[in-house]
Amino acid sequence: MADSATTTIVDLGRLSLSHGEGARLDLEVQLEPLQLGGQTYRAAGESVAARIDISRPTNGYAFRLRFPLRVEGPCMRCLDQATPSVEVDAREVDQADTDDEELRSPYVVEDDLHVGRWAHDAAVLALPTRILCRTDCAGLCPTCGESLNDADQADHEHETAPDPRWHKLRELKLD
Ligand SMILES: [Zn+2]
Ligand SMILES: [Zn+2]
Repeated sequence: MADSATTTIVDLGRLSLSHGEGARLDLEVQLEPLQLGGQTYRAAGESVAARIDISRPTNGYAFRLRFPLRVEGPCMRCLDQATPSVEVDAREVDQADTDDEELRSPYVVEDDLHVGRWAHDAAVLALPTRILCRTDCAGLCPTCGESLNDADQADHEHETAPDPRWHKLRELKLD
């Protein structure tokens, strides 16, 4: 899996685009698992349906990468399953014959566009920094550790330090 993800590569030379020409490619790209906030998120489904627009405005290339993304992983607040969706839309330019790093794309090596790596990085940037199961996730009860989502507020009005006398009373009741 990881190998195919990193080797989704477009050979730009084979497109043989002249200046002013463009091309549109639709590719299935397998994403490597995404590491966010110490948690691991995976694209739902086997791969993402990526659309790549390639143009040659001047001496080089301009790229646009788009794909709908839905990932699965733990909610960063309550650890329940979260499945956020985003539209990834990223652009890159790669100017030939320049020493200006800003004009070079890290995803273009020789004549190859490394779509797998780019899609992975673009996905990380497109996702929210806090991934939640729902926008108003209430998180976990700091006292008992249970999820407060859909929980009865009254069930979590714990005494901060349980009074041992109550414990004794409960034992008596059980008898
Ligand atoms: Zn949550
Ligand atoms: Zn609680």
